[in-house]
Amino acid sequence: MLNNKLLPFILLFASISLIHAQPAIGDNTPPNIVLIFIDDLGYGDLGCYGHPTIRTPHLDQMAREGIKLTSFYVAASVCTPSRAALMTGRYPLKAGLPGNLGPDSEGGLPQDERTLAEALKEVGYRTAAYGKWHLGAVPGYMPTDRGFDEYLGLLYSNDMMPPWVNTERPLQLYRNDQPIEQEVDQTTLTQQYTDAAIGFIQSNQQKPFFIYLAHSMPHLPIYASSDFQGRSAGGDYGDVIEEIDSSVGQIAEVLEAEGLAENTLTIFTSDNGPWRNMPERMYTTDPVEQWHGGSTGPLAGAKGTSYEGGFRVPALLRWPGQIPAAQVSPEMCTSMDLHATILNLTGAKSAPKTLDGVDILPLLTQQAESPRDDFYYFSGEYLDAVRDNRWKLRIAAKADDWISHETITGDEPIITELFDLRNDPFEQFNLGQHYPEHVSRLLMKMRQFAEEVGAKLRE
Ligand code: MG
Repeated sequence: MLNNKLLPFILLFASISLIHAQPAIGDNTPPNIVLIFIDDLGYGDLGCYGHPTIRTPHLDQMAREGIKLTSFYVAASVCTPSRAALMTGRYPLKAGLPGNLGPDSEGGLPQDERTLAEALKEVGYRTAAYGKWHLGAVPGYMPTDRGFDEYLGLLYSNDMMPPWVNTERPLQLYRNDQPIEQEVDQTTLTQQYTDAAIGFIQSNQQKPFFIYLAHSMPHLPIYASSDFQGRSAGGDYGDVIEEIDSSVGQIAEVLEAEGLAENTLTIFTSDNGPWRNMPERMYTTDPVEQWHGGSTGPLAGAKGTSYEGGFRVPALLRWPGQIPAAQVSPEMCTSMDLHATILNLTGAKSAPKTLDGVDILPLLTQQAESPRDDFYYFSGEYLDAVRDNRWKLRIAAKADDWISHETITGDEPIITELFDLRNDPFEQFNLGQHYPEHVSRLLMKMRQFAEEVGAKLRE
């Protein structure tokens, strides 16, 4: 007969065993990672971030089922350096790619930098990238050279062809390291990438997997498939976003159908703010709409600027059973932190070089404060700004919405701005004259960090 005094211990033991039977943080079943990285999607472009006409029911559901971050930063406000930081967990200047690559660029992400895919492959993950790469388009630097088992996509931006960009190299769709489509029908890209990701999920369940789904849209020129053209109340741009939302829904559906939802961390974010500030070259022909539509919501600036609208982007994370549902967090965190968090979650080996990312899992799962104390805003080789928890110091040209990094001549007057991001996240009031002590303190931080990483200052 069972001794009643032992019963509580037996139950406790059984419950501990049950807990360990679940896929859990730190046990032997590392989670699958689906990292959806959108090109030039603005802070204000989704329903769950306040867009009034674009409908994003699947992303809104993702926000309800997970966490929505409202102070999430990428490490550059243009494509290549932002991607370099995500892939390496390091500021782009440190990772060797402070500026954009073109279609005819030699090289790419330095080969002594370790990518997230390489780190995950080392611990047994199957890895796939679908979409825009933009970290090197020559042998030795392509996705399949940098840790991805398979690839389908455009090796750089979808405008990098005549008439928008002068180049002899045609824009081609690549499968692994070979071009498979000479004249890319861009209306098919969002669904082609989605289909490839779904196929990969369905056929790679023996090992944990990492999928990097980096949509080419809504970087200009924008294209939606015939199923979505004219469907949105938000115009052509809305059609494109709603097709991306559908893609997110399709991925969630297949994870559910395959019984993988509970052991998959899905992340949705963007590489930089919206390209509202197009240069003249983008206005040359159809089908580029003169009115683009990407929105930073209430944030100042846009792509290519060091205001919040260039660097702060939507970020949603869903991991049923691990990340509590319906959270909204204003804690400061970055794409480099995603890198560090994924390394820790998956048991990847520690990074060979010093990371600038920090593990934010407690923020996601336990409503902890962000471990991040500061964030630096780079513009190429220049350090434009720094933020601590409350204050942001910016030393750069005014660079309003309609001045892009491509049209800055270098002759614009440099101004010093201090913003109280707690009370004024929209950067409406320059408080520099009222708080000289914060200007001095943050200027010292900028000088120290610029010296540490070899960046230039505009002061
Ligand atoms: Mg981009």
